[in-house]
Amino acid sequence: MRILKQEIYFPIIIGIHFVFWAIDLYFYNGSFKEVSSDTLLFGELTNASWKNPHRILGEVFSSWVVTVFAFNFLMATRAKWVENLFGGLDKMYLIHRRSGVIAVVLLLAHFIVVPRDLVAFNIGKPLGFYALVLILLGVIISAIPFFKRKIPYHKWLNFHKLMGVFYVLGVVHGILVESLIKELPITRVYVFGMAFIGIAAWIYKAFLFKIFNKKLSYTLADIRHVNDKIIALHMQAITNSLSYKAGQFAFFTFPSISKKEQHPFTLSSHPHDENLVITVKNLGDYTKKMISQLNIGDSVLVEGAYGKFSSAYSKEKEQIWIAGGIGITPFLSLIKDYYTKKVTLYWCVSTESDAVYVTYFETIAQQNPLFEFVLWESSKRGHISVDDLSIRNPKDKSYLICGPAAMKETIMHELKQDGVKSTNIYDEEFAFR
Ligand SMILES: Cc1cc2nc3c(=O)[nH]c(=O)nc-3n(C[C@H](O)[C@H](O)[C@H](O)COP(=O)(O)OP(=O)(O)OC[C@H]3O[C@@H](n4cnc5c(N)ncnc54)[C@H](O)[C@@H]3O)c2cc1C
Repeated sequence: MRILKQEIYFPIIIGIHFVFWAIDLYFYNGSFKEVSSDTLLFGELTNASWKNPHRILGEVFSSWVVTVFAFNFLMATRAKWVENLFGGLDKMYLIHRRSGVIAVVLLLAHFIVVPRDLVAFNIGKPLGFYALVLILLGVIISAIPFFKRKIPYHKWLNFHKLMGVFYVLGVVHGILVESLIKELPITRVYVFGMAFIGIAAWIYKAFLFKIFNKKLSYTLADIRHVNDKIIALHMQAITNSLSYKAGQFAFFTFPSISKKEQHPFTLSSHPHDENLVITVKNLGDYTKKMISQLNIGDSVLVEGAYGKFSSAYSKEKEQIWIAGGIGITPFLSLIKDYYTKKVTLYWCVSTESDAVYVTYFETIAQQNPLFEFVLWESSKRGHISVDDLSIRNPKDKSYLICGPAAMKETIMHELKQDGVKSTNIYDEEFAFR
């Protein structure tokens, strides 16, 4: 599994917790005690001091759960500063996915280890159990590939939004039950502060995002059928135009298909172009409807722009661009950007008939000595590898990769084996869940 450098945030959270917990526990001399408590696997505790490892560990786990989920809700707000922190919305959603799984493991660890007070009934206790079951169910359905394949994206997203409700249940459980966290001044402020941030982020995304995040209105000015599976949609701004950089993407709503559904597409136009253009391949239900049902004059709502996949990072170096299939879209925009060093674009397609932009790139290559174009047909030559690129001095170049996950993973792995630093490799995820 590929580890992103932005995932450093996770050990940082753990580190912060250790510091707060250590300071608080060092100075704590309160009377918190297990009069009669039970743990799921480790037996009963009678008149045990708060210093018992089950209590401390169990609650440390729960404080991590609260914080990791709070960050997950923050990520879901798509706020620019959060996107910058996590290196682009696509990376952020990848981390969001993994954090959710980590939080559930920590939640289970909390459930197994933490002692349950047997003396008095408290509504917080069953609430905690229901929260655990619902969060577990939520993450299983959200993260397991089987469910992702079976459940249409918009239905899956509607269910996923309920994670906020389950989180609130968990936080209410934390407020109601007796706990060491409530006794410790720094940890208490930190954990409940994080819970507040998490809940506020969820409320913002679920109820206020649409109000504050106004979408831009466009009209469909032209629809070009590039082949039977790919269309290029040209859109004209009604009032304000989208501000974006080459290589970024945005979320699009086509009310004539669905007023609610929103899908991400890379902008294949360049910021200097008059119209906004996206190039869409039929990959499922919605994209199929886009090809068959959209008409010139239809309205389009645009939200964005997002993403960090831009040659802006790497203009000082020679660049290798590698695209797989419809992953060519950011390069349709980047090719019109300004660059001073050589750029070589490898476009991997299954067969020549899929290489719909070949003449376009070949013409640019003939006119611009800084640009070289190589078409790679995998039906004839197999999947492309770094050896096939025959790159001289690979460490001195920067790499932009966009395409199927398997292709990206293989190439990035091989580049790293050849000594290319991960800071010189940029990639774009074409899937958010
Ligand atoms: C950053 C980014 C840039 C993209 N750029 C392009 C592009 O330039 N051209 C292009 O053809 N495709 C692009 N895609 C892929 C495109 O968004 C999906 O193919 C499309 O949303 C699939 O919808 P569907 O209902 O037709 O297919 P489905 O079969 O329903 O979905 C296929 C997969 O697409 C993803 N997906 C579906 N709906 C959504 C949604 N509303 N939001 C986010 N992901 C969703 C899910 O991972 C899903 O499993 C991009 C995706 C991302 C994340």
